[in-house]
Amino acid sequence: MTPLLPALQDLSGTSGTAASREAVRFGGLSLTYAQLAAASNALAVRLAGAGRVAVWATPTAETVVSVVAALRAGVPAVPVNPRTGARELAHIVADSAPTTVLAGPADELPAALAGLERLDVSTDTATAPDGAFPEPFPEPSPEAPALIVYTSGTTGPPKGAVLPRRAIAASLDALEDAWRWTGDDVLVHALPLFHVHGLILGVLGPLRRGGSVRHLGRFSVEGVAAELLSGGTMLFGVPTMYHRLAEALGDPAGSPGLTKALAGARLLVSGSAALPVHDHERIAAATGRRVIERYGMTETLMNTGVRADGEARPGTVGPPLRGVALRLVEEDGTVLDDPATIGEIQVRGPNLFTGYLNRPDATAAALTEDGWFRTGDMATRDADGYVRIVGRKATDLIKSGGYKIGAGEIENALLDHPGVREAAVTGEPDADLGERIVAWVVPADPGSPPPAEELADHVAGLLAPHKRPRTVRFLDALPRNDLGKIMKRSLGR
Ligand code: ATP
Ligand code: MG
Repeated sequence: MTPLLPALQDLSGTSGTAASREAVRFGGLSLTYAQLAAASNALAVRLAGAGRVAVWATPTAETVVSVVAALRAGVPAVPVNPRTGARELAHIVADSAPTTVLAGPADELPAALAGLERLDVSTDTATAPDGAFPEPFPEPSPEAPALIVYTSGTTGPPKGAVLPRRAIAASLDALEDAWRWTGDDVLVHALPLFHVHGLILGVLGPLRRGGSVRHLGRFSVEGVAAELLSGGTMLFGVPTMYHRLAEALGDPAGSPGLTKALAGARLLVSGSAALPVHDHERIAAATGRRVIERYGMTETLMNTGVRADGEARPGTVGPPLRGVALRLVEEDGTVLDDPATIGEIQVRGPNLFTGYLNRPDATAAALTEDGWFRTGDMATRDADGYVRIVGRKATDLIKSGGYKIGAGEIENALLDHPGVREAAVTGEPDADLGERIVAWVVPADPGSPPPAEELADHVAGLLAPHKRPRTVRFLDALPRNDLGKIMKRSLGR
């Protein structure tokens, strides 16, 4: 059976080059493949017999060692966000019922995890042998649950998605096919390690192919520039990061070398939320490089992505990845053949989860009888299959005056106005229109926000009169979660 992380197993027979290559680096701590294999093997031996393990997923090498060890031992791992509030953490622990928690020796764990057996994770590889490693662990079956990842909780309480090895392998191979990453790639990483984006794409992706991961701990424009200028080849980020990079590029006193750093990167990828067209274009104008977008979710891993050699078209997330079937479906279940009509994205393929933990009701509701996953995201398609996400069915599709209007295009239009720093659009009940378009705006200059009428005119002028916001509300900041996703359910919905 093909191992999930071959690059961590086939360390012999390559005259030491693969073994001595850097696998991960977190600040001053660097682990080669040989060291990561040794540390995770040592931990995997201690995990034999554990039920499920919770991983206290700080952005550290200990988290990588923990997850790799659990994958090698065939013990399902539940990455836990260390910043989760007490109530949500209690829910996740009760729901996922881990027997053991893996944490760094210095980590202080909250009460919700105190009753579990604790294993301190060491990255100390002083005893690591060179070169070849024993393989005490048989590769678990492809359908065995590998990770239980909680959804971001953007539309409701987080649900535990059970991800089999098969889904992780299929999705990473489809991304490799699209992006052509190799053992020579060095990923610059600044995302948290408890979601699919940061953990599966950002850590397991490079490790599956023998590449390197350099984690910044925390995102900073300067950190990204420095790592890309000293060997980094790829950057995976969320739109808030690209927004900050775009702002810095436009600032004459911004980070020195940033333009060169971004221009020289092999791959700049954005995902987890829509990348505003405005930021996409500012980065392209300053660096000559286009950010490519991919679209996925906890339950399905990656669905679409612009290929490395493909056209990065602002406002689209590219065509379906290899092996992923994608269709747009009307509310009554009719499959649309006109790609220009808005429908719900449904996907099917080897990348899908096996279900939500303890939630047969939610699992059944999410899947059609013949196995298509209802993403809850609405989209149209370009003639050549590029998917244009309009937004989420629950929060981004506004039904106003007989029209179906996507919040995203109005947000993009608002962001195009120089007086707007951030924007979110929602619908609110309206006796006349069914729903009325409401714009939530963070002004560029908090001291003098642009007049609401001017913003509404700007949108109507760029788009169409029925897309004109009826209400504009100014805020100091938009409510966002740890991936920078806008929490629209906190915006008066
Ligand atoms: P929950 O399911 O708990 O409400 P969530 O859907 O935000 O939270 P995730 O699985 O982390 O949890 O996120 C997947 C969602 O993120 C997708 O359904 C989609 O709405 C959004 N998304 C991901 N990538 C993109 C993208 N490139 N463009 C637009 N939206 C995206
Ligand atoms: Mg979701």
